Amino acid sequence: MNTHEMIEKWILEEKALSPEESLQMKEHLADCHQCYCLHHNLIGSLACIQRAPEKKPASGFSMRWQQQMILRTKEKEKTDIVHMILKVSALISVLSISSCIVFFSPGNLIKTALYISDLFKFLSAQIYQLGTVLSVFKVPLLFIGIGSILLLVIYVIVATLSTITIRRIRKGADSHE
Ligand SMILES: [Zn+2]
Repeated sequence: MNTHEMIEKWILEEKALSPEESLQMKEHLADCHQCYCLHHNLIGSLACIQRAPEKKPASGFSMRWQQQMILRTKEKEKTDIVHMILKVSALISVLSISSCIVFFSPGNLIKTALYISDLFKFLSAQIYQLGTVLSVFKVPLLFIGIGSILLLVIYVIVATLSTITIRRIRKGADSHE
């Protein structure tokens, strides 16, 4: 970096200079018109900014600003929620797609088919066994079933008849008195 570049940097950065640096800058400004103009224009601009009257905001500005902030915060929250939902759905989709790929891979399909066929075999064996057991007890079960139905019918008939007879006897006794 040559002296010109260094001085330019000092001016733009508004560097706090040591006495030696101040002297070096003074000497350079006397020789270099460009740095001289830059230095004086910067000082002039800063002074101009400092002298400018302070502008007060329009009435109700802070109120409107706060309302805007609240609105913007709410909108941001809504957008964040939508983004989160989208992210979660994307994650779920990716997970389901990958699990589908794993589940429907040829190896797994064969395994699942074998498992299902085993299950059907087991179920049919159980049903067959139950059929065999029932066929052994078929005749005794038939006798017991028919016997109990007959007994029930006989009980009902006997009970009805005896009730009727008792009523008739009572009626006869009442009419005799
Ligand atoms: Zn210069």
